[in-house]
Amino acid sequence: MKTPKRIALITGGGSGIGLAIAEKFVQDNIQTIIVGRDEQKLAAAKESLGELCHTIRLDLNDLQALPGLVSQVTAGFGGIDILVNNAGINMKKDLTEVSDDDFQRILHTNVTAIFALSREVVKEMIKKESGCIINISSMASQYGIPKVIAYTASKAAIEGMTRAMAVELSPMGIRVNCIAPGFIATDMSEKALNGDAERKQKVLSRTPMGKLGEPADIGGAALFLASGNAQYITGVILPVDGGNSIGF
Ligand code: NDP
Repeated sequence: MKTPKRIALITGGGSGIGLAIAEKFVQDNIQTIIVGRDEQKLAAAKESLGELCHTIRLDLNDLQALPGLVSQVTAGFGGIDILVNNAGINMKKDLTEVSDDDFQRILHTNVTAIFALSREVVKEMIKKESGCIINISSMASQYGIPKVIAYTASKAAIEGMTRAMAVELSPMGIRVNCIAPGFIATDMSEKALNGDAERKQKVLSRTPMGKLGEPADIGGAALFLASGNAQYITGVILPVDGGNSIGF
């Protein structure tokens, strides 16, 4: 008898790191549902990933829609085995220019929506006493990087939530881990680094591997954490950063 395909839900799977995670999952025969706001990006991802990829257009800031998203996926696919909380937004501004609304906007997408979606998915995973959640933080959570105050606060929160979720949910068969990417070549890092030669030079000079990472580097790490090879791993914050975090 054929083993049923595992089901993964990846937020922000239409571009950058999320798309690379989706590629690795599909190559591993995982039914992969990607969520984003941009219909065109989602359609292009579906076109390149093929029949194991499914798209749902949704703004994750719409918290009231999240229980419906989870029921839609659970009813349509029979459950959610893997949740990847990848969607996130950045904002580069001097601290004194960051308004309360700016700050809340970043925290809402990067923290509140992750919590609210995870809660709904966990309710389903608990029924099966099995599941795997992968959060995506950032090296910004561990460094003091100027001009990204809200983003830094949000990514530190994700790492704290990872630990809190792991201790509460692992006894129920749900592993929760986090990947902390270093500097990865995507639209987001392009905006943050290009046009800021000093910051780009600083990044490269302290990255022992001497280059930015590729989205596929994060995809590979996510596939590992979702696999049976990681069955005794929970509560981990895994840097995937070319050595940037230990660079001199
Ligand atoms: P991108 O900007 O390429 O991707 C972000 C994705 O999130 C997009 O697909 C976007 O989809 C989705 N998204 C954002 N807001 C929402 C929302 N409200 N509802 C639904 N989807 C949303 O960036 P990256 O691939 O670089 O980033 C992915 C993750 O990796 C982020 O959490 C980021 O913080 C993290 N990261 C990235 C690093 C890097 O160097 N690139 C370094 C460290 C961490 P859409 O546009 O369709 O809404």
